[in-house]
Amino acid sequence: MTWFQEGLYEHHAQMLSMDSVIYHWRTEFQDVLIFENAVFGKVLVLDGVVQLTERDNHIYHEMIAHVPLMAHGRARDVLIVGGGDGGTLKEVLKHPVERATLVEIDGEVIDLSRLYIPEVSDGAFDDPRADVLIMDGTRYIEQSRESFDVIVIDSTDPMGPGEPLFTPAFYGACRRRLRPGGMIVVQSGAPFFQPKELEMVCGRLAASFAGVRPYLAPVPTYAGGMLALVAAGESRDALRPPCKVLRERFGELQGRTRYYTPEVHRAAFTLAPSFGPSCLRE
Ligand code: SAM
Repeated sequence: MTWFQEGLYEHHAQMLSMDSVIYHWRTEFQDVLIFENAVFGKVLVLDGVVQLTERDNHIYHEMIAHVPLMAHGRARDVLIVGGGDGGTLKEVLKHPVERATLVEIDGEVIDLSRLYIPEVSDGAFDDPRADVLIMDGTRYIEQSRESFDVIVIDSTDPMGPGEPLFTPAFYGACRRRLRPGGMIVVQSGAPFFQPKELEMVCGRLAASFAGVRPYLAPVPTYAGGMLALVAAGESRDALRPPCKVLRERFGELQGRTRYYTPEVHRAAFTLAPSFGPSCLRE
């Protein structure tokens, strides 16, 4: 049996059997590997780091998209930075948004995901409301004059092309692109292994946003089984509305999510006092 080993952290590695290799290539920006695993189905790896698997990507994509969109409640324009696999786009387009702009640095990630893992985007790239731009997210934010209700940073980790997406300057520029009541969500890695990254994201967002709140989602293929996300907006309470409000907003989305519910939304922000870095604590 051939094994893929993800060795992101010192003294810890996780392995997945590569039951068949579907694709392996180096694009202009990163190494792309797609393989099949008997448990997780198709697996997308960028620069040696697992990005998604067929079996559990819905948890990641639903929690990064529906939490800010449901908290906002009336988003018309949404920006996704990264997210070339199309999973976040698919979830965003389940809402009655007018436009979802996706800015991905590596067009080959989009092409390869559409070709080899089409179930992740499930036709989202063909939706007339989807506006796809191939460019660096930092350059887009600096140059664009568009404004948004929700911005989702669905990037790789703070290394390689993803690194500039974690800077205070980038978060400040995102803040300026948001309309009143706007919200941002940042993919913030595996909290057990990357507590400093999570602290960093919380601290840097706090320089531009009055309300900053981390939340968690269980994603089995991320090291430690947990994904940290950080949401930010004008107030902490706005990010986690009462269940009654979320249930009213759930409407058309009900029955179209596999993991997200209003109760899961509320619970995701409830963090044990002893867990992880201090920024995770209420
Ligand atoms: N689920 C993911 C994970 O595990 O972190 C993230 C998924 S998505 C595939 C991440 C995408 O961000 C990649 O396709 C990568 O090319 C893109 N990306 C990285 N840096 C970027 C930048 N500066 N601007 C726009 N997109 C970027």
